[in-house]
Amino acid sequence: MSSEEEAKLPPHVLIFPLPIQGHLNPMLNLAQLFCLSEFHVTFIVSDFIHRRLLNHTTVPETFARYPGFQFRTVSDGLSDDHPRAGQKALDMFSSVPDVMGPLFKKMMIHEDFFASASRRRVTCIVADGVLSFAGDFAEENGIPLVYFRTSSGCSFWTYFCITELLQAHEIPFVGNGMDQLIKSVPGMEGFLRGRDLPSFCRVNNPNDLLLHNLNDVTRQTVRAHATILNTFEDLEGKIASQIRKHIPRLYTIGPLHAHLKSRDTEKTILSGSFWAEDRNCINWLNGQPLKSVIYVSFGSITVVTREQLLEFWHGLVNSGQRFLWVIRPDSIMGKDGENHNIPVELTEGTKKRGYLVGWAPQAEVLNHQAIGGFLTHSGWNSTLESILAGVPMICWPYCADQMVNSRFVSEVWNIGLDMKDTCDKLIIENAIKEVMEVRKNEFLERVEDMAKLAKMAVGEGGSSYCNLDDLIEYIKSFII
Ligand code: UDP
Repeated sequence: MSSEEEAKLPPHVLIFPLPIQGHLNPMLNLAQLFCLSEFHVTFIVSDFIHRRLLNHTTVPETFARYPGFQFRTVSDGLSDDHPRAGQKALDMFSSVPDVMGPLFKKMMIHEDFFASASRRRVTCIVADGVLSFAGDFAEENGIPLVYFRTSSGCSFWTYFCITELLQAHEIPFVGNGMDQLIKSVPGMEGFLRGRDLPSFCRVNNPNDLLLHNLNDVTRQTVRAHATILNTFEDLEGKIASQIRKHIPRLYTIGPLHAHLKSRDTEKTILSGSFWAEDRNCINWLNGQPLKSVIYVSFGSITVVTREQLLEFWHGLVNSGQRFLWVIRPDSIMGKDGENHNIPVELTEGTKKRGYLVGWAPQAEVLNHQAIGGFLTHSGWNSTLESILAGVPMICWPYCADQMVNSRFVSEVWNIGLDMKDTCDKLIIENAIKEVMEVRKNEFLERVEDMAKLAKMAVGEGGSSYCNLDDLIEYIKSFII
């Protein structure tokens, strides 16, 4: 290709998420938005996920519209029958850098940075913020690097403050430190307790390896040319200002799954679900009264014991409310780590007022008029989807950033309750009654206001809309 021909080609962005559902979804959304700006995009996924995307999703048909888009697949280093859920999901944190990382580098070099007759070599790497090896590769090869942290701003900021938390001896917790107010996370004084820090902070040893790894991974974000957060200024502007003291070029461009309405006339809804979505639940919802159903889902990684499952079930049934409950086939785990089936009494006893599915079209469910509340594990995508749909939450955070998110839902945004560290049928029953009956209007009013702000943020002229435009221009500047 002559240099004149090459000069006419658009930027070529390589996007590389950690291969798990909650990281893939927003990065696929971003890929689509880049494609709408006529960028060329190479998207790295594991073979394992790629197969699932081909089988269960609208991804192939969505991206068929964009000739500039291509997947490249690499092994994530885990066997096909590895559960990739619960504690076992942590295996990714070693297998991805140890196996996927070197394979990715080899492929990049071998394929000349994915150049072809009609596409430049990769001009910018947008890497998941937890993949330091992708950042190393970008630096070693002089390729501009943008990190995408797929968690909330508030959780990213608490991770960022781990050094200060350790220096101030606020972690490890001592005595009943779980309820002690934390002072070393600027902007969160007065409401953040030990138990609200990311679950990895619950350690006895100040030299805990995982904690220090997470600290290092977070701190290295500053080396990127820019960082992206899937959030919006009206929700997390104060926290974003704290982060900007260390990372000035911070693009808040969320909720990413909501941009298409204002940018794509064909409005293709992107679904990247790893499991087949059971659409029968939409028919069931169609027959339920307005805001009468509580939607229950704990995301793609959470596993529960049989005992916890039954506490939830009793709480749901005793609340007297209707419910739609996602129980992933791989989500009930015994003490020995093996999978359990859904107990028969639960499936039988649910039929009267409830509906069970293995996986739901969640964003669509949350937007259904029959939904009045969301019992959630507080994953960041789920939280944003609930906010955008104007649905109050009951939070049962399971791990990691979810501990921080649930505190913000209940104490900062006042759009739900936080059941953190409890799993008791009476508490569950009461929380459901609070959100669906007693304090229904109060929560609804606030979350609906927040939903309006979220829609304005991604609408023309809104903060996330403009920030995305700025990011696109910034990436274009790399080829000038
Ligand atoms: N999700 C879905 N169907 C379900 C459950 C979850 O489509 O039945 C989607 C949900 O909409 C969200 C993602 O899976 O986009 C889960 O991401 P989140 O960050 O909430 O949690 P994680 O799975 O990473 O713990």
